[in-house]
Amino acid sequence: MKQYRFAKILFSLTLVALWAAAATAAPLAKHVFIISIDGGAPYVMKDCDMPVLEKMAENGAASWEAQTIFPSVTLIAHVSMMTGVDVDKHKVTWNGHEPDKTLDVTTCFAEAKAKDENFHTAFFTGKDKLVLIDLPGSMNHTEKPYYETEDVTEAAAEYIVANKPNLTFIHFAKTDGLGHKHGWGSDEQKAGFNAVDTGLGKLWKAVEEAGIADETVFIITADHGGHKNTHGSNQPEDMTIPWVLSGKGVKKGYSIAEDVKVYDSAATALWLLDVDIPDSFDGKAITNAFDFN
Ligand SMILES: [Zn+2]
Ligand SMILES: [Zn+2]
Repeated sequence: MKQYRFAKILFSLTLVALWAAAATAAPLAKHVFIISIDGGAPYVMKDCDMPVLEKMAENGAASWEAQTIFPSVTLIAHVSMMTGVDVDKHKVTWNGHEPDKTLDVTTCFAEAKAKDENFHTAFFTGKDKLVLIDLPGSMNHTEKPYYETEDVTEAAAEYIVANKPNLTFIHFAKTDGLGHKHGWGSDEQKAGFNAVDTGLGKLWKAVEEAGIADETVFIITADHGGHKNTHGSNQPEDMTIPWVLSGKGVKKGYSIAEDVKVYDSAATALWLLDVDIPDSFDGKAITNAFDFN
């Protein structure tokens, strides 16, 4: 009798241990999307018609005070966003498309692939210079650059439904171009942010159609803001970016109080996917914005 009880307890303990092992082995989220709205200055976006993003922030977690790196320019900031490090480490100081130059640090995509080559990674950019981030072997798919918001949305949405990628970058480029042409906060740029918002809604719909919504987190952010017809300075209009989390495990209506930097996107994505964050990263996972219990 005693022996039987002992065996029963042992059996229960084994079950608990197996369950615990399974629980730690599963990623917190199987699908992470880093979505960058180029030139997305929060002080402009708050005056725009962006009901989808607003709802995502309301039902999710948000900081409207996140900071990019200096200089606040597209390529250098996106490299930080996806390499998890500041400029002194990634050493990308140029902002043009220079195909002969290579990236000498790892990316969140390369790290995900290094852990498990079955991680499906995808890259949708609006500017060809961003392919610098596409390290050899790190992407299952790199789409050709689409400048128009509708085009990048359509390509990404179609791909999501067909392939259910695990780690995806999607870049809305046009809002920056509209800022340079018409000014940050101009009616033209505001219409551009509204189009991006429609795009966000379509991307989430694609995630639902793919059947992965329960396992998905959106990280919606920007490379930099802007003022007048430019950006690149260290003033708040240029440096401040949004950082909105929506999806699995995200706290509802949570205002992120801690300092968020552009390179925290890479770290948070890896943490969600249960990939070790390299020691070399400056970025940290914003774990306080999640509640997985
Ligand atoms: Zn930019
Ligand atoms: Zn620009």
